[in-house]
Amino acid sequence: MAEEPKETKPGFLNPVAGFGVTFKAMFKKRLTEQYPEQKKTTAPRFHGRHQLNRHPDGLEKCVGCELCAWACPADAIYVEGADNTDEERYSPGERYGRVYQINYARCILCGLCIEACPTRALTMTNEFELADSSRANLIYTKEQLLAGLDEGMVDSPHAIYPGMDEQDYYRGLVTEAAPGTVRQAAVSQGEEPRPAGPSGAAEDKEVDA
Ligand code: SF4
Ligand code: SF4
Repeated sequence: MAEEPKETKPGFLNPVAGFGVTFKAMFKKRLTEQYPEQKKTTAPRFHGRHQLNRHPDGLEKCVGCELCAWACPADAIYVEGADNTDEERYSPGERYGRVYQINYARCILCGLCIEACPTRALTMTNEFELADSSRANLIYTKEQLLAGLDEGMVDSPHAIYPGMDEQDYYRGLVTEAAPGTVRQAAVSQGEEPRPAGPSGAAEDKEVDA
């Protein structure tokens, strides 16, 4: 038969011993994070919300190849590519991503899509506040994912830099929009075509980004 453990202190002291744990914790460093008032800084290579990047002149890097969608284990990406034309050019090459969606109700932020992207069009930001109470709001569209305009950029669609081709863009030879670059009408997105000038060509009017 097992021997009973010996009592080392009187039983009436047990509640006091319990308070001892509380008392010790009062002098320890607090671990509670005051989120969302105080946000934690994420690691530089944190996997947060995605971003669709632009070339330095504002044209889009995405070529609509769908490799990111095929690489995604959660089937969270939907891409539809389309052909560029001289009148409506979104990227320097032949194709661009006409429709681009990421469903954050599915995405597990694994980063396989950005590894698969051949043009570095798709990268991930440090933004992690993606929660929403609506499933529909969790489907981010191309407009939400496309990077903003930096200095020297003109919003797409617009003409390719004169004298350059797609390869030159990837060689880093285009560093800003060519002087006089204007945004073209996004007719495929429902915008009105520009009125033709006296020469029959569309008039070069600056259009708000
Ligand atoms: S991060 Fe992972 S789960 Fe999310 S879209 Fe990319 S491949 Fe899919
Ligand atoms: S983001 Fe990259 S991989 Fe995905 S469709 Fe665009 S170019 Fe292709």
